[in-house]
Amino acid sequence: MNSFNENHSNLAIDTIVQLIWKLGAQTRAELSRISGFSRSTITLNADRLLSLGILIEEKPKGSEGKQNKRKCLMIRKDRGVFVGVELDAYRCEVGLCNIMGKLLCSTSFAVDFLLGPDEIYRVITAKIDELQSELTQGENTILGIGVGLPSPVDFAAGYAVHPAFMPGWHQWPIKDMLAKKYCCPVFVDNEVNTMGLGEAHLSKRYREKNLLFIKIGTGIGAGLIINGEIYRGNSGLSGNIGHIQVDCRSEQCQCGKVGCLEAIAGECALREKAERLAKEGKSPILAKLYANKGHLTLHDIKDAVGSGDRETLYLLQETADVVGTMIGRLVQFFDPKAVVLGGKQVSFGPQYIDYIRSGILKQATPWVKSDFEVNISKFGDKIGVIGSAMLCISSLISSGLTLEEQL
Ligand SMILES: [Zn+2]
Repeated sequence: MNSFNENHSNLAIDTIVQLIWKLGAQTRAELSRISGFSRSTITLNADRLLSLGILIEEKPKGSEGKQNKRKCLMIRKDRGVFVGVELDAYRCEVGLCNIMGKLLCSTSFAVDFLLGPDEIYRVITAKIDELQSELTQGENTILGIGVGLPSPVDFAAGYAVHPAFMPGWHQWPIKDMLAKKYCCPVFVDNEVNTMGLGEAHLSKRYREKNLLFIKIGTGIGAGLIINGEIYRGNSGLSGNIGHIQVDCRSEQCQCGKVGCLEAIAGECALREKAERLAKEGKSPILAKLYANKGHLTLHDIKDAVGSGDRETLYLLQETADVVGTMIGRLVQFFDPKAVVLGGKQVSFGPQYIDYIRSGILKQATPWVKSDFEVNISKFGDKIGVIGSAMLCISSLISSGLTLEEQL
């Protein structure tokens, strides 16, 4: 085969896999129409992908017995798995997904960053091995790994850069370590970026759209998705909204500045403010919970809100308004199709989301179109681990590199 034909063939192979992965099952005729490749090019390369076991060809489910239903080409899903690793401030989740991003199994464990990267890496790999052993041999081949870290990340190098609270992780080579151990491609990114990417790929309504994913938890961060791709900025810092100053007179932030969004509306700030309400006797339910334990959790705050405690509800409204106002300003700047919310604080429920939504709309109306949406992630607290796996899958599919070897 001469080099032109070889390049042409690789392009056709990459295009066929990319189209089926993005659009779902397709007939050969549909693929020819969408891609612009001739029927004979599609046939030649589809047959090659079938013989390699990368695709399967069958009638779509539910069409059995129907005469006119043509066979469709689909991605074979049981050829191996992709690992997703999500590291948070206090916890790590490891999961295995199939090539379409479906989570097959996952496990999580508490993380103490003071233990250093070597020990945390040791537990992560032990969990990967544990999950892998639960699946059938052959189907459990690891084809790639995606990692989401709670810090700025050098995407090309695959490590954290000057993380705020992860001692020893600056330039710690997690990508190289995992790639060497599992002999597969590894991709590392900021965890909110991976969440946004997962949402953009797996929610049909957001596919190929501009999306703002906001994680509200211990930290507050944004993932910017432009036309279905992560926008990383110049130094991997894009979306670092937690340390934008929203009030120059108030709380000290751990980053050294005053009045950062995170210092006012993040988990620690919320707990401290709730404890103040308890100590000052302004909230009887929080005072009782605090007297029993000596501290308060997000769960306690949720319980107080559920019981209709007026002061806790006001606290929630106040902090949600600060977050919503900030997001509204970002919406004015970025003009996304949707804002998707994730992170622990989303579990406060619909009222908290409504407060944030009204804060956003107060800022962004009347400039956003009527189809603009504010929603919570439909994948709940699994979006981090699914998004990390999707970082790897989408990077491999879109690059087309080593497709035959990897998929
Ligand atoms: Zn700060």
